[in-house]
Amino acid sequence: MNLSEIDIHAALKKYFGFSQFKGLQEGVVKNILEGRNTFVIMPTGGGKSLCYQLPALMQDGTAIIVSPLIALMKNQVDAIRGVSAEMGIAHVLNSSLNKTEIKQVKKDIKDGITKLLYVAPESLTKDENVEFLRSIKLSFVAVDEAHCISEWGHDFRPEYRNLKAIVTRLGEGIPIIGLTATATPKVQEDIIKNLGIGDATVFKASFNRPNLFYEVRTKTENIDADIIRFIKQNEGKSGIVYCLSRKKVEELAQVLQVNGISAVPYHAGFDAKTRSKYQDMFLMEDVNVVVATIAFGMGIDKPDVRYVIHHDIPKSIESYYQETGRAGRDGGEGHCLAFYSYKDIEKLEKFMAGKPVAEQEIGNALLQEVVAYAETSMSRRKFMLHYFGEEFDEINGEGADMDDNTRNPKEKVEAMEDAVKLLKVVHGTSEKFKSKEIVNTLRGKNNALISSHKTNEKEFFGIGSDKDKSHWMALIRQMLVAGYLQKEIEQYGVLRFTDKGHEFLKKPHSFMMTKDHVYNAENDNAIVG
Ligand code: ADP
Repeated sequence: MNLSEIDIHAALKKYFGFSQFKGLQEGVVKNILEGRNTFVIMPTGGGKSLCYQLPALMQDGTAIIVSPLIALMKNQVDAIRGVSAEMGIAHVLNSSLNKTEIKQVKKDIKDGITKLLYVAPESLTKDENVEFLRSIKLSFVAVDEAHCISEWGHDFRPEYRNLKAIVTRLGEGIPIIGLTATATPKVQEDIIKNLGIGDATVFKASFNRPNLFYEVRTKTENIDADIIRFIKQNEGKSGIVYCLSRKKVEELAQVLQVNGISAVPYHAGFDAKTRSKYQDMFLMEDVNVVVATIAFGMGIDKPDVRYVIHHDIPKSIESYYQETGRAGRDGGEGHCLAFYSYKDIEKLEKFMAGKPVAEQEIGNALLQEVVAYAETSMSRRKFMLHYFGEEFDEINGEGADMDDNTRNPKEKVEAMEDAVKLLKVVHGTSEKFKSKEIVNTLRGKNNALISSHKTNEKEFFGIGSDKDKSHWMALIRQMLVAGYLQKEIEQYGVLRFTDKGHEFLKKPHSFMMTKDHVYNAENDNAIVG
């Protein structure tokens, strides 16, 4: 399709009333109009829907939008219907429709009226639907919330795994558009592989939120008092306090109320009426604080949330990013304060104990990243963005001084010699070990795994015995973030070299490390990688 800039801008104005594209939207829209496979990674609120809606509206044929939730589909269909006089411009095709409704949907599609057809993956697998869709002109297939394809995402749905096969049945050369707000490289790799879009143009927006301040504090038995103090210091501002359990939500909301703070509880155990009452009270600013489980937040658009407190640490960095992302949407101040104790990590581990082994291993790997985030002394923003596969300049980057560690830096020490020792051990053990065994090897601590590899007989066994475990774990984390090592996620954290790591070992140079916080030194598990 050959469309000028003017056409695209005119269509943006005509259908959505916007005079400008947001972020990477324009490039995405053009790429889709050119009929190419496309992969869009943008944080929530980045404007992903328009990326496929606009080209669908501008093109001949119908675009299929695969979406995991009926509620999401309905919202989108209503919104799209608002941009046109024609009701049939967008439809949902699902099992809740009766025969007459299905007939109407099919008629509108055949008549070329329907530009966007929303389907759940389950409906798309039905033979009768496939047969029908094969017979019509399709512009492209967009897979929304594409992270549902990956077990490493937060919302794995096995039906998403069949999408590529179905699209192939629908016809030849239909462009596929994947969209997600999940930024981890592993999830992205799974999406590309499963949708078969290795040739896709990738549009990835930055996940940096420069106006958010990140802080982690040690969780003690005085946590309620700490939270009350923080809220009182921020009197009159809106904030969310996340807790893991419904019980804690109710308890803490009460404690806050007793202490003169206007707060409501929110969790999925309340009936719909109560939930919407409390939500409205928060949105309308009848109360300042909502104490909630993760049930609160999806689709809630309050731009001036000034702080997000985590009474309990979440189960992944991904969740932490999503939940803290609800602060400072208007670009103003947003303080993200997490309380951390290793005991909470153990609690989360226990929750996973009954699950299938693969799920547990994934869950644990994600949890160890949370531990590393909480215990690190480096820029938390840099750490988080590195987790999302994004480089961040901790000196000049936007929001560089917006975290506790950067504001109150720990002393740095020269660690070139130790870095060499570490890399030697990774090299000498043939890049087969996870952090824990690398540290045991450095410290000369034998165990069954180490002796089965005869690592205890190697000359480098114990070369780092002069330093403790927390020192070596900190160094590993910092060398990972600095890009000298990488973690093999597929193998749950095996450490490997990068090119930069090889260079370093050949020609060592200064490496300044910060000493990490150790919150729970008496707990030997506190610092596993
Ligand atoms: P995402 O799906 O990435 O979370 P949405 O598609 O819901 O984001 O868009 C987030 C918000 O941004 C919506 O309110 C939408 O109307 C608005 N928006 C999208 N594109 C533009 C634009 N070009 N100009 C102004 N607002 C936009």
